[in-house]
Amino acid sequence: PKTAYVRTKPHLNIGTMGHVDHGKTTLTAAITKVLAERGSGTYVPFDRIDRAPEEAARGITINIAHVEYETDTRHYAHVDMPGHADYVKNMVTGAAQLDGAILVVSALDGIMPQTAEHVLLARQVGVDHIVVALNKADAGDEELTDLVELEVRELLTSHGYGGDSVPVVRVSGLRALEGDPRWTEAIGALLDAVDTYVPMPERYVDAPFLLPVENVLTITGRGTVVTGAVERGTIRVGDRVEVLGAAVDTVVTGLETFGKPMEEAQAGDSVALLLRGVPRDAVRRGHIVAAPGSVVPSRRFSAQVYVLSAGEGGRTTPVATGYRPQFYIRTADVVGDVDLGAGAVARPGDTVTMTVELGRDVPLEPGLGFAIREGGRTVGAGTVTAVG
Ligand code: GDP
Ligand code: MG
Repeated sequence: PKTAYVRTKPHLNIGTMGHVDHGKTTLTAAITKVLAERGSGTYVPFDRIDRAPEEAARGITINIAHVEYETDTRHYAHVDMPGHADYVKNMVTGAAQLDGAILVVSALDGIMPQTAEHVLLARQVGVDHIVVALNKADAGDEELTDLVELEVRELLTSHGYGGDSVPVVRVSGLRALEGDPRWTEAIGALLDAVDTYVPMPERYVDAPFLLPVENVLTITGRGTVVTGAVERGTIRVGDRVEVLGAAVDTVVTGLETFGKPMEEAQAGDSVALLLRGVPRDAVRRGHIVAAPGSVVPSRRFSAQVYVLSAGEGGRTTPVATGYRPQFYIRTADVVGDVDLGAGAVARPGDTVTMTVELGRDVPLEPGLGFAIREGGRTVGAGTVTAVG
């Protein structure tokens, strides 16, 4: 039998973000290695984290690679995105529900477009705490690294992160993976910074249960499993739930976190829920598992939206009423009609208010963050201000 998950430390969700090739996956592997050597986790090698092809071959789309580990004071679920598009889709829409993020910046390259885009979008969706890993410090020249640090602090300040007080730790994921003592110690310093700088967020464990579905899997002989992060509330084996989007009422017959069975999952946990009698193809990513009757989906809302500038990877031309992009809301991806009011336009770089009519009903509420995408790239980030 599998060992049950025992909640002995507060659980937080963090993730690596930053430009491609700056070393996010290497750093993730290095963190698990350093902690495994301390006896508080399992080493997850690089090629087990960047595992998209293997999963794709089995017909399962795993868009987020999760690893778990423990420091002296906390249990963490850590997400590392295989690619930029997945990052934007999953993390930025709030699917990963990050309590804090490790911004990985290569000391050799400095700020690149995705560095800035991830910081912007993290701010937009309410990731309030960022710790910087100035990676590849083994290969960088000290003066250049100092300049990169200044540049990163400025970027963070310009997005409201108080760049002067953000911890910036010089690391080498690669050398730490190789066992170099100096860089192993640097990983320890990075984890200490995360432990102390990212506060334990408030968890709404008494609210009605809600989990946005990230993935759906079949376990032969057991049934359909949905995975995701519990947004709020508490769930126990035997509880009734409804699946919004699928119009299914069912019962949770099994609960796991990182392969360990649990009796009860709560807000902030990354879990797999086994659902009684639900066919595999009835449920998909974007659906919501909720306490019966606790949410009423709708399709009209007002929002405040930041339209990304061309320099941030956004559009080069303005948008007007009649614009019909994709809205990424929690794990859902829905087309929507934008209304800016007669004659109004939104130029790249503008913050505007708009009303949106979605192509289908989804659970909406004020404060909910979302991303707007078009042709595979993010062109806007917003927050719901009113529903209906
Ligand atoms: P990601 O795209 O951000 O996940 O980056 P990867 O972790 O895949 O790393 C990209 C490349 O940078 C790989 O060739 C790594 O070996 C290299 N790399 C990662 N971390 C370091 C480091 O700390 N020092 C050096 N010199 N190279 C690194
Ligand atoms: Mg990677």
